[in-house]
Amino acid sequence: MSLNRVITRAVVTGGALVAAGVFVTAQQPAAAPPAAPRDPHANEVPAPKNPPRVVVPGAAVGAAPADAVVLFDGTDLSKWEKEKGGGPAEWTVADGAMVVKPGTGGIRTKQAFGDVQLHVEWATPSPAHGSGQDRGNSGVFLQSTYEVQVLDSFQNETYWHGSAGSVYKQYAPLVNVSRKPGEWQVYDIVYHAPAFNEDGRVTKRATFTVFHNGVLIQDHVEVMGVTTNEGPPYYKAHPDKLPISLQDHSHLVRYRNIWLREL
Ligand code: MG
Repeated sequence: MSLNRVITRAVVTGGALVAAGVFVTAQQPAAAPPAAPRDPHANEVPAPKNPPRVVVPGAAVGAAPADAVVLFDGTDLSKWEKEKGGGPAEWTVADGAMVVKPGTGGIRTKQAFGDVQLHVEWATPSPAHGSGQDRGNSGVFLQSTYEVQVLDSFQNETYWHGSAGSVYKQYAPLVNVSRKPGEWQVYDIVYHAPAFNEDGRVTKRATFTVFHNGVLIQDHVEVMGVTTNEGPPYYKAHPDKLPISLQDHSHLVRYRNIWLREL
């Protein structure tokens, strides 16, 4: 076969293939339009319009951030008053701490609060003396009503829903991360106030989340009511905002660096 004949056959064969292709295509239905590319952001939660408010954090871990209400900075008790009847708080201020003055009663903030993030540092007496509930006992009362127990719970047995970090007589702490007597300890508390209807019935229970020395010990527990020492807990309607109180349990418990953020 000459070279010319090979080329002629190829051209003829190619032409026949093109003609067959046109014939087949003409017999098919019109092709569907191409699908739009999938939007990877479809169905996402839309972002809020406004950016999160800027809060300057404290210079060190545990220091009050810029939007905190500082309740005690180690200098004076000007933000506090006697729990019973008001009047100047009589606890002692020394070495940057406030110390329970036994017999003078608990103290409360002059300002009232509802939902808060509360930071409190505390230390029980050293050397330790007494046992059970009679050893470094005090307490942080949210809304002057619901107690997070302060107690020397370092190698000190008691009923466990009355040990350090308990919601008193309702919830024991998840773990015991107590430091030794005399050492500074930290509570970081997230508290949500209860709500009541017009009949005075509770419609939403108070809740506590508590970190003790940085460790979660209360995981959003629902408070059953007043943390009473005797009898079952119960709810009694109260205002949306009430002071925070610290308990005088006749022990020389110290407090320092107390601040909160209203939520
Ligand atoms: Mg107590």
